[in-house]
Amino acid sequence: MNDRDDTKPATKVVTAGRRKEWTSGIVNPPVWRASTILYDDVAHLRAAAGRDTHHRLFYGRRGTPTQWSLADALTELEPGAEGTFLYPSGVAAVAAALLAVLSPGDELLLVDSAYDPTRGFATGLLRRFGITTSFYDPMIGTGIADLIGPNTRAIFMESPGSLTFEVQDIPAIVAVAKAHGIATLLDNTWATPLFFPAIARGIDYTILACTKYVVGHSDAMLGSVTAGPGRFAALRDTSFQLGQHVAPDDAFLGSRGLRTMAVRLRQHQESALAIAGWLDTRPEVSAVYHPALPNCPGHENFVRDFAGSSGLFSFAFAGGDDAARTAFIDTLDLFGIGYSWGGYESLAIPIDPQRHRSVTTRADTGLLVRIQVGLEDTSDLIADLERGFAAWGAAATV
Ligand SMILES: *Cc1c(COP(=O)(O)O)cnc(C)c1O
Repeated sequence: MNDRDDTKPATKVVTAGRRKEWTSGIVNPPVWRASTILYDDVAHLRAAAGRDTHHRLFYGRRGTPTQWSLADALTELEPGAEGTFLYPSGVAAVAAALLAVLSPGDELLLVDSAYDPTRGFATGLLRRFGITTSFYDPMIGTGIADLIGPNTRAIFMESPGSLTFEVQDIPAIVAVAKAHGIATLLDNTWATPLFFPAIARGIDYTILACTKYVVGHSDAMLGSVTAGPGRFAALRDTSFQLGQHVAPDDAFLGSRGLRTMAVRLRQHQESALAIAGWLDTRPEVSAVYHPALPNCPGHENFVRDFAGSSGLFSFAFAGGDDAARTAFIDTLDLFGIGYSWGGYESLAIPIDPQRHRSVTTRADTGLLVRIQVGLEDTSDLIADLERGFAAWGAAATV
């Protein structure tokens, strides 16, 4: 499947998935829209129904070269991966991956710093279907072994964690899981395969909210699950049964975004490090939670395991109240106020992670802001943040 295994990731994002038979030589894999596929005669119709539909036109729900090309590209970015399935959102990808490995009576171990809708799926639909979830401390490492019971079937990781950015000891958890025959799943949206090649590190299912860095332009929703060796059939069967399908137009936007992902990530990394470092020197700030900065929980895991950092992190104010935090955010011009991240534009939102935790608490009580650093000039972003701090100072001292 992957004939260019030796090339670097920045090359792969350019070349991957662009098979000649899917593009006819057109540079960007075109949009093939379809529901009905017509057959020459009944014999061909019957033959099509009886064989594997992978990478064969069959019916629109099974995709066209537009979706196959993106899925294949994401597989190529994960050395050792068996295949990728696309979903209409990151949350749909999380749900399908969990349903591919869990059955009634099973137990899931879910990191306490998981994206809130992932928690919601576990405590909602999974619970309704008789699957129990135990939350664990993101810093648990090999201690995960103590939580494994007779019904534990899957360990779900997200590293760094949503909102609080704890970097998990993934190799330690993978080793424990393998020793017990337990499936591992990782939400790898923050690092992408460029900064953390999850399948090569032994993860069974790696999940991306492609809505973020793959699409990269805040104009489409998309998710993916890439499966490790021997894991793709279960994922594909489950996803077919769920009727999952991605519109070819959205797959096209994902493919188009992917081509610049390496160069965008390089700039997100550089700019976010500059802004995080600058925030760390500010008297208004008590802590910056960025995996590449030493006071971020799990920083040593980040240094050991990751090839780079992306553009999302959070910081805590030294004092002040919610009104001061709101004044800070409302004053910003270049940082938009809105959910999601991974686009080219900067964002800032207030976050209150304690609302989404059940087994861990933060030592630091400062109010938090989550920052997505976009592709604007960092000196303009810093000037904007300075205006925000002036407004914060005025509000905090009233
Ligand atoms: C946004 C996000 C998701 C969900 O992706 P959607 O495409 O918005 O459904 C999943 N995991 C993480 C870490 C995210 O930030």
